[in-house]
Amino acid sequence: YIAKTQNLGVFAYDPSVDAHSPAKLALLGDLRRALSSGQLVLHYQPKVNLTSGEIVGAEALIRWEHPVKGLISPDAFIPLAEHTGLIGPLTSHVLDSALAQARIWIDAGAPLTVSVNLSARSLLDDGLPQQVAESLAKHRVPAELLELEITESALMAEPVQAQRLLAMLALMGIRLSIDDFGAGYTSLGQLKNLPITEIKIDKSFILNMGLEPSDALIAHSIIDLGHNLGMTVLAEGVETAEALNHLTTFDCDSAQGFYLCRPVSAAAFDEWRDAYRTSADTRDAHTSAG
Ligand code: C2E
Ligand code: MG
Ligand code: MG
Ligand code: MG
Repeated sequence: YIAKTQNLGVFAYDPSVDAHSPAKLALLGDLRRALSSGQLVLHYQPKVNLTSGEIVGAEALIRWEHPVKGLISPDAFIPLAEHTGLIGPLTSHVLDSALAQARIWIDAGAPLTVSVNLSARSLLDDGLPQQVAESLAKHRVPAELLELEITESALMAEPVQAQRLLAMLALMGIRLSIDDFGAGYTSLGQLKNLPITEIKIDKSFILNMGLEPSDALIAHSIIDLGHNLGMTVLAEGVETAEALNHLTTFDCDSAQGFYLCRPVSAAAFDEWRDAYRTSADTRDAHTSAG
């Protein structure tokens, strides 16, 4: 197990995801069944533009509706899937479901960019661009409505391979976003060569921005860095109005977080979106009247 993964820094041995412990083996069996029986569902969380207030996209976040254990968060099973080869089929499933949803939004006359999280391992999969192209075609979704989020640590683990794959995806017209930016280490030289359209500031800097001046300083610096490189910058983990105000002052482009909306089922997302638009219309009406 260790030998098999020795060249892949991010997959180094980690006992907490040891797929060989009895509990993990049982969970893995459950996960395989979950994949084929529709227990893996996507929730969606809006990305909101801080200048216009517009909803600019929805991030798909996977949830496991376990029949006995209830809702299981991705952190509890994505690492296991990555270590057992189940991540390939899982990623296909997520892409397919997210693009099916994108098609539903197009048909409803309200198209929205969907963001799909890629695991580090997917960056090593040469078949990924083809798979993405097939899924886009199957659901008749334009590439511009798909965004792929790749964590900073995944990018830097295999920079050469990652750069090649991202170049192919960017050529297809897919948007690319660096997730959890600032949490890992990034070679800035590397960053400037990547066809990235968005940087997502890691939520660790955003959550305590009001209490930690250094966090606010880091967030501000990342926003400036992203802008200087021609990228848009999004802050994740916005839980308070105070954080949102800070970010607006720093010229941050967009935000995501519990303060705006939690990740919710597609049906709940649509309800939230309707209510959000209605309140925006009301605001506009008041503004133009007064
Ligand atoms: P991520 O892509 O960085 O997603 C952001 C996480 O922060 C999500 O956790 C989200 O629910 C949470 N979050 C959003 N707003 C707030 C906030 O205001 N405060 C706080 N404290 N948290 C907030 P979640 O859904 O548990 O996902 C965890 C991670 O699992 C994701 O981090 C992503 O790396 C991974 N993941 C999720 N879905 C998928 C997937 O379909 N495929 C892969 N490969 N990874 C996924
Ligand atoms: Mg993400
Ligand atoms: Mg993130
Ligand atoms: Mg994360």
